[in-house]
Amino acid sequence: MTTTPDLMPGVEPTPLALLLLGRGTDPDSERGVDCPGDLPAASDPTLVERARTAKEALGDRVFVLGHHYQRDEVIQFADVTGDSFRLAQQAAARPEAEFIVFCGVHFMAESADILTGPDQAVLLPDLAAGCSMADMATFDQVEDCWEALTAAGVADVTVPVSYMNSSAAIKGFTGRHGGTICTSSNAERALEWAFTRGTKVLFMPDQHLGRNTAVRELGLSLDDCVVYDPRKPMGGLTPQQLQDATMILWKGHCSVHGRFTVDAVRDVRERVPGVNVLVHPECSYDVVGAADLVGSTEFIIRTLEAAEPGSAWAIGTELNLVRRLANEHPDKTVVFLEKTVCFCSTMNRIDLPHLVWTLESLVEGTVPNRIEVEPETARWARAALDQMLALP
Ligand code: SF4
Repeated sequence: MTTTPDLMPGVEPTPLALLLLGRGTDPDSERGVDCPGDLPAASDPTLVERARTAKEALGDRVFVLGHHYQRDEVIQFADVTGDSFRLAQQAAARPEAEFIVFCGVHFMAESADILTGPDQAVLLPDLAAGCSMADMATFDQVEDCWEALTAAGVADVTVPVSYMNSSAAIKGFTGRHGGTICTSSNAERALEWAFTRGTKVLFMPDQHLGRNTAVRELGLSLDDCVVYDPRKPMGGLTPQQLQDATMILWKGHCSVHGRFTVDAVRDVRERVPGVNVLVHPECSYDVVGAADLVGSTEFIIRTLEAAEPGSAWAIGTELNLVRRLANEHPDKTVVFLEKTVCFCSTMNRIDLPHLVWTLESLVEGTVPNRIEVEPETARWARAALDQMLALP
């Protein structure tokens, strides 16, 4: 994992802090928060030209990945765009690229490092670009949870299934305990596979994706699910509750998708006649139930591409992507589902000054903000990722 030197003076380390100041470190977090760069000013009018020049100078030595939730100013320099897993796969398919610049968040860069060769360096333009959801499950908390499951006598029949949006340490835990990683596209297949291996699933860290998939896709009931709260002893659950549960959902959520509400769905239906409400499965169970369609970012993009001209869509996912979809489909009405939800603040940390600084540093011969996963963690995380690729 990234090694970073000092704690931010005066700031208590907490797994939930966003630590947006870009200075110091948080050892309890899935990412560092130190960005040592001497960044160009955001107002510099030559930034686009500087990024282009540096990228051209690097040629095939650099490969720039852009997550769907990134700003347009960054996406314009991406060699490929996609969700986190597609981007990691794309990185692995470019062994000739010495440098992989990952315009996304920390756990994604970790996954790219795990899947790429040892001679390739994966760089995150701003180390403060973490993911609050991934931070909601730390390694120690997950170890404590496993002890609670062991004490309740159910660890042997429990299969961990971890969402891609988790730290390398959690992916490593998952691989060590015979589980699998999943994405929002293959969560149903991952759960079906897990239930051929055990009678219970520990789903981390997004309770909503776990619940939506188990209940809506697999037909389990809400009563089959319990929520394990890592801040409470035994997760706030009794041994009996753990024994009775089929799905043990980690108490984590996305701080963007978790904010969409059923009221917003009702409101947009009143405002936009005939609107189709399309949301991501990281939204709450109630919001997903109120929507017309649910699916991953790739599903959302494909659905808009296939939609009839003149149709109307309210989208419940990150705002950068929704804005881009609205621009790409001027023949359709595309609106953002919620009035009060804003961008993913950590995704948005990757801006043009950070990208320019990263590319120009490479041109000058320094490799900034390299993300490296410790080999033993990487080995087990890779096992969990490979298991996902082998899902039937
Ligand atoms: S949108 Fe949510 S899950 Fe994605 S990086 Fe931001 S906080 Fe994490």
